Amino acid sequence: MTAVIAVGTSSVAADNFEYNNERFADLQMLRYKVSGFERLPLRQKKLIYYLSEAALCGRDIMFDQNGAYNLRIRKTLETVYTDYKGERNSADFKALEVYLKRVWFSNGIHHHYGCDKFEPGFSQDFLRKAMKSVSTEKLPLAKGESVDDLCNTLFPVMFDPDVMPMRVNQKDGEDLVLTSAANFYGPGVTQAEAEAFYEAQKDTTDKEPVMYGLNSRLVKQDGVLVERKWVANGLYGEAIKKIVFWLEKARGVADTQAQKEVIDELVKFYTTGDLKTFDRYSILWLKDTESTVDFVNGFIESYGDPLGLKAGWEALVNFKDLEATGRAEKLSENAQWFEDHSPVDDQFKKKECKGISAKVITAAMLGGELYPATAIGINLPNSNWIRKQHGSKSVTIGNLTDAYNKAAHGNGFNDEFVVDQATKDLIDKYGDVCDDLHTDLHECLGHGSGRLVDGVGDDALKAHGSTIEEARADLFALYYLADPKLVELGLTPDIEAFKSNYYHYMMNGLMTQLVRIRPGKDVEEAHMRNRQLIARWAYEHGKADRVVEFVVNNGKTYVNVNDYEALRRLFGELLKEIQRIKSEGDYEAARQLVETYAVKVDPLLHKEVLARYEALDLAPYKGFINPVFRAVTDAKGEITDVTVDYSEKYADQMLRYSADYGFLPYVNE
Ligand code: ZN
Repeated sequence: MTAVIAVGTSSVAADNFEYNNERFADLQMLRYKVSGFERLPLRQKKLIYYLSEAALCGRDIMFDQNGAYNLRIRKTLETVYTDYKGERNSADFKALEVYLKRVWFSNGIHHHYGCDKFEPGFSQDFLRKAMKSVSTEKLPLAKGESVDDLCNTLFPVMFDPDVMPMRVNQKDGEDLVLTSAANFYGPGVTQAEAEAFYEAQKDTTDKEPVMYGLNSRLVKQDGVLVERKWVANGLYGEAIKKIVFWLEKARGVADTQAQKEVIDELVKFYTTGDLKTFDRYSILWLKDTESTVDFVNGFIESYGDPLGLKAGWEALVNFKDLEATGRAEKLSENAQWFEDHSPVDDQFKKKECKGISAKVITAAMLGGELYPATAIGINLPNSNWIRKQHGSKSVTIGNLTDAYNKAAHGNGFNDEFVVDQATKDLIDKYGDVCDDLHTDLHECLGHGSGRLVDGVGDDALKAHGSTIEEARADLFALYYLADPKLVELGLTPDIEAFKSNYYHYMMNGLMTQLVRIRPGKDVEEAHMRNRQLIARWAYEHGKADRVVEFVVNNGKTYVNVNDYEALRRLFGELLKEIQRIKSEGDYEAARQLVETYAVKVDPLLHKEVLARYEALDLAPYKGFINPVFRAVTDAKGEITDVTVDYSEKYADQMLRYSADYGFLPYVNE
């Protein structure tokens, strides 16, 4: 359950490192610095190197999970991109280059955030001719297939707006499985069939239910539903075997005995696909807080499945940022105080807050669903019973937050959208510290707070589960940002500081996050829905008292917060209700809230925001180019050092990944 705060505010000192990199479409590529890597001992450098290889080996899995044709489309476009002998400066070729860069970025042909399909800016005719101009051996042709056959297969998927228009469709009332392009369910499987299939597996008396359906594609074979598991000897096996190879290398240089056991259990899970093993792995992983180097590698988040069951493959390699960890630890030490004092009904509070570990980490490698667009905080595992019994592990990724902040410094965004100079000053003064703290509160305490009523299942809120869960964590953070306790703990400098975050949150949720939505589209992504839900709800419920209002100056709309204390009370009220909905599994109330506040966009305001944003000439989405780790070996092949290099260009990195880590077959059997 990751949290990404949309737009960074400001930053202080610039160093010589180039954070901003190339830009295309609505995307800005950044680099992140792996500070402290050089100072690690050789064994830990090797550990990071091996885990990084494991993090890259699953890349194709994510492409295939996002759509059945993604790998073939990627290979086709890459071949044209590298081998085309025609005019490379033509408008068609330039458009193909942008399209391919977007496909790389999104791990497929649908927008990574909005989920809608890209429109190619080049013609079918151009692509067909270009495909015929390159060597057929390098095209992903099926047995006996001609280039024209391949065109006939891929072109409707790429060019026809009515074919697979959405990766994840969440429109109320439609068959979400049939209408989503994500490749988690085989052809012809309906939502009702999939829901019934997993409903039948559920045992309501089981106090430790596995996450049903997490690691498989559900397909119809001779009219019968069966799961095709993602395991070493099953679907995606070619990639999973490579992941296991590198994990076993990592095991040999692991930080602790506990970490060896974590790796053993994960390898067992990749080998057997057994979900009980996955739960055991998750518990071992969350309890391993001693290791300096840590990693995520597996089927983790289910945002990509309209039913919220099946998990995308992702990876992250990191190590502890010991200096910055103190902040998050202070929150964790006081977890019970925060739980006890929250506005939530006592019956929905955790009697005993335990096992919330918190730390600031330095990311060293991003993979799968976390690359290139990524999260700045992580709180795992996702299984509710494990979280309840064992707690969770929570991290803030310090070097990524830092990179966002440095890259956003002085870009003019706040000058355009913040209502007045006093508020701008507030954001300049407190923005960074409060944004970091919001993330810490969201991850360390928010997701870990509250309890479900006995008998309420993990997925009771179905398609709205992710939005409600993110809202719960954000509201917990917002509510406590304004608490004198934070000043007492030395986490905020004074009792005014929270206002910077409140203002930014309302401005973002009511207005500026719309820069990420195309005209005429709804809000789809769970984190964005959550932010609009909270901001709209607070706006509407404080309307009579003018707590928050829209003001117009010189024809431009601004958000103005008149009463920060009242706004805090509103956040508290909504937190109470959202926790009740989550605890009781009140699907109807969740649906009502989401449909009323989180989805629809004011078209006039949207248009204005887009126009003002466009004039700033900034990219609404950001992602990261990974560093390159290289093993230095001696004559005997022993690794004597691992170096880190930041010079690789975006397209070079993507082409290298496709060549070196392209393990899955292009043609789905
Ligand atoms: Zn979250």
